[in-house]
Amino acid sequence: MPCLYCQSSRAALLYKATDMYDFVFDVVQCQVCKAVYLSPMPTSEQLDHAYSDHYYGEQEKKFFSPFEWVLDYFRQQRANKLASHLPANGRVLDIGCGNGRFLHFVSQLGEYELHGVELPGKAAQRAAQIPNIHLKIGTLERNDFAADTFDAITMFHVVEHLPNPPELLSILAQIVKPNGVAIISFPNIDSWQSRFFKGKWLHLDPPRHLYFFAPTDFSREMKKMGFETIETKYFNPEYNPFGLLQSLLNCFTERRDVLYEHLKNNRTYTANYSRFSLWLQILFFLAIFPFCILVDAVEAFFRKSGTVEMVFRKQ
Ligand SMILES: [Zn+2]
Repeated sequence: MPCLYCQSSRAALLYKATDMYDFVFDVVQCQVCKAVYLSPMPTSEQLDHAYSDHYYGEQEKKFFSPFEWVLDYFRQQRANKLASHLPANGRVLDIGCGNGRFLHFVSQLGEYELHGVELPGKAAQRAAQIPNIHLKIGTLERNDFAADTFDAITMFHVVEHLPNPPELLSILAQIVKPNGVAIISFPNIDSWQSRFFKGKWLHLDPPRHLYFFAPTDFSREMKKMGFETIETKYFNPEYNPFGLLQSLLNCFTERRDVLYEHLKNNRTYTANYSRFSLWLQILFFLAIFPFCILVDAVEAFFRKSGTVEMVFRKQ
């Protein structure tokens, strides 16, 4: 299967990865543009299964409450950062807005016009209840918005899920205003976590994550679309320490991401694990989480963090 970024068919096998349902994928790297992708691409049945209601948790929330509070803290931080790039009355689009909590925090920071796009499901139903958000349930299409509409577009951990990322990025490039910004975060395939844990890396997340880039290669692709990279943030206590911790656990458990699914309340997935085993994993989590934050600080210093958040400005 050719690379969607550059159409080249020259791809090299990096390693294999087994998903939550025991399907095995090749993880290959395009020898021309360095994009890393799953091969073959998951079928629509595999994706439907992977995005079943468990992905968003048993309730409408993705995680149970204490974790939602922590996530709200990080959403607030992201909202503050976005607002620092916005003019008064700025127009914002959040692609893959989930339950809309991030846009809710943005709405409290000024008189902005806020738009969100989310696939149908419980998260979108929840987003639809938030006032002051123009929500499109579905996918972003080329004729949804006129050219040069938005002062900012955000895409937090979305680009790696897209079946055709360059197609969506070209739509994004069209609808951001000149001098407007795009804030995009994604797993860093050039990270130490990715290189060390390979198929067992949490943020590889097959079959949901399809395409990966190193930040420098992504930056080059964005430049082709008319964007200058103005910031790359590596240190990220929301994503990176847990990525390390869960990947470590994946070296010892038979199935991948058991603790992560347990925290998401996915009881079907963790049914074969005893309460003792699950508590042991939580204890491990609590015991080494501070250490993992420290490791992330080192990873960030060397620009090898598990995930990155990049800010681009349209020329
Ligand atoms: Zn390529």
